[in-house]
Amino acid sequence: VLVLGIETSCDDTGVGLVQDGRVRVNLVASQTLLHAEYGGVVPELASREHAQVLDRLVARALDEAGVRPRDLDLVAATRGPGLVGPLLVGLGYAKGLAWSLERPFLGVHHLEGHLHGALAEAPVEPPFLVLIASGGHTHLYRVEAWGRYELLGATRDDAAGEAFDKVARTLGLGYPGGPEIERLAAAGDPHAVPFSVPMRGRAGYDFSFSGLKTAAVRFRDEGHAPADIAAGFQRVAVASLVGTLERAAQDTGLRRVVVAGGVAANRALRAALAATGLEVHLPPPGLTSDNGAMIALAAARRWARERRADSLTVSAEPYWPLGEAV
Ligand code: ATP
Ligand code: FE
Repeated sequence: VLVLGIETSCDDTGVGLVQDGRVRVNLVASQTLLHAEYGGVVPELASREHAQVLDRLVARALDEAGVRPRDLDLVAATRGPGLVGPLLVGLGYAKGLAWSLERPFLGVHHLEGHLHGALAEAPVEPPFLVLIASGGHTHLYRVEAWGRYELLGATRDDAAGEAFDKVARTLGLGYPGGPEIERLAAAGDPHAVPFSVPMRGRAGYDFSFSGLKTAAVRFRDEGHAPADIAAGFQRVAVASLVGTLERAAQDTGLRRVVVAGGVAANRALRAALAATGLEVHLPPPGLTSDNGAMIALAAARRWARERRADSLTVSAEPYWPLGEAV
């Protein structure tokens, strides 16, 4: 089965091809430079840019895989959550292509995409825990069966990736902040600056990262070295994610855990996860941040389980909690 996956929920255009469960091509056109001068993603600019590059990116993906449009068995796109304009561009394109080729169309939940991206190389079966740590989410779910997501906890303010981005900005680093913080932290002492782990000792599985950003500003103004601030922030951010995950694993008895989303690229996080002794599943390189292959993988697996296509009348869902039917 050859599946085309399209991801346009935010500022990256992703096109992926998955054949028989294996990623063949995964192309991402980043809009980071386009939005850089505005200090954030401008939805209208993002929509227009997606519309401009999508067709060429799909053509290139098919070309690199040596396949023709006719060879596609399924066409999938992200349906939500995300920015409505950008979502509509990808959805409209995918529906049009599916319609013209007379192939099933599948609208995919963005977080289900991140989840399946993390399972690209080792497909596993529920039950498991999944922690999505990305630019917009820090959400911990218990998955008892496919499609059944029980939210155990979530961030009460900033997402983990957002915190990396904001602390990076505080330190005068570039965007996205995650890789920049990780690089600078390697030169710092993680214990030189007295950051404390947010929410430690609290019941439940919620997270909070906005206090770390405020603390980083204060430590910077007190004259601490940027590398020490980066290392200290990364230490407690990782401790919060891994500590909460470990506690949830203990309480639920689920030792199989999946960690997905852009923050899953972080090597300090990966090292801390490896030290837990849990059965940890992480996305391979290229599948951590937004991409089309993860959308194709999620679609391929739903199709294999349920043989269920979506109607061409489904619309974008900018606000769409995982596990809630629309
Ligand atoms: P969402 O999926 O919630 O809609 P998003 O798609 O914007 O949000 P992703 O693309 O999954 O988020 O991840 C981007 C985030 O991951 C950014 O905040 C970025 O700073 C962070 N990130 C990327 N690499 C690293 C890293 N090495 N360490 C920490 N964070 C990282
Ligand atoms: Fe994402």
